[in-house]
Amino acid sequence: MHVYLMFVLVVAFVILVVYLAKVVVLQLEETADNDVMKVKEAYFGIIQRKDDLAQEKKRLQEEANRIFTLYEFTREVTGTFDEAAAFQSFRAHLARQTSFEDCRMLPVPRLSSPSPEKYHGYRFFSLKAKRKVLGELAYKGLPEGDEEIFVILAHQFALALKRIRLYSELERMAITDGLTQLHTRRHFMERFAEEFGRAQLRQSFVSFLMIDLDHFKQVNDRYGHLTGDVILRETARLINENIREIDIAGRYGGEEFCVILPDTDKAGAMLTAERIRSAVREAKIRAFDAVLTVTLSIGAATFPDDARQPDELLDKADWALYRAKKKGRDQVAGFSIYQLEA
Ligand code: GH3
Ligand code: MG
Ligand code: MG
Repeated sequence: MHVYLMFVLVVAFVILVVYLAKVVVLQLEETADNDVMKVKEAYFGIIQRKDDLAQEKKRLQEEANRIFTLYEFTREVTGTFDEAAAFQSFRAHLARQTSFEDCRMLPVPRLSSPSPEKYHGYRFFSLKAKRKVLGELAYKGLPEGDEEIFVILAHQFALALKRIRLYSELERMAITDGLTQLHTRRHFMERFAEEFGRAQLRQSFVSFLMIDLDHFKQVNDRYGHLTGDVILRETARLINENIREIDIAGRYGGEEFCVILPDTDKAGAMLTAERIRSAVREAKIRAFDAVLTVTLSIGAATFPDDARQPDELLDKADWALYRAKKKGRDQVAGFSIYQLEA
């Protein structure tokens, strides 16, 4: 009986030990599973973060690319004063960033309905500086997602256009006399030096006309300066109308004009001067309420007959003009003729 009890106790003890061992093993397994789960989670977290970082890197790279393109484009376009070159630069940088079928610049204002077959499938972008429309881009085949880079570059191109137009307007103002729209004296003298140099090099003629309105002070005194200004403008127009495309007319001073006649000998210069003189003499100039006629005197001198240097040629033409005034005004005097007569 005693042995039997011992046996039961031992068996019970063994069962208890086995049970406890199982519980411990299960506990350990669960802990291990949890650890594995945690490691797995951490691993997937890292993978996810890696993907996120890769995406972020790609985005930053694209952003950097755009900024670099914008910088490069801005740098390149700042160096040009030519609209066509600026557009080529815009197009080239756009092509580096995206693909497109066509992109062209349209003059402003665009015809209200551009021929539909010509612009079928095109989209339009207004190039604006503040509210002023400078031009229009017609483009086609731009991928959906690339609209943003197109707009960024196009805005930069509009700024470049504005700058180019401002410069050319300033340049035009600097070389154009505001009242008569002829060349200013400074610009005219530069052109004169060029033409003179060319004539020296080619051993060809160049003639110079010095023109002065007759008794213009009286016109001003009688009709006022505003009327005088209208006459100056009209005289300038008549001078321009009676010279060739290659001749260069300028406003030398108040009511004095001059004309450079490249490749023109003295006889040719006299003919042109006479044409200008009679055109002005014949003109009925309407200024406000009055209709007026004015006359002018012209002196002509020619390289190489009369002078070796530009300044000398100008002086000789001035001298001839003085002779024309002296002889009674409303006439043309050539320097050599004056010398022969003197
Ligand atoms: P001459 O036949 O000897 O050339 O006589 P003139 O009266 O034309 O000569 P003068 O040089 O004494 O006078 C030139 C006048 O031109 C004086 C000035 O009032 C006028 N004048 C100069 N510049 C301008 C201008 O920009 N506008 C106007 N309205 N008049 C001007
Ligand atoms: Mg004068
Ligand atoms: Mg005068």
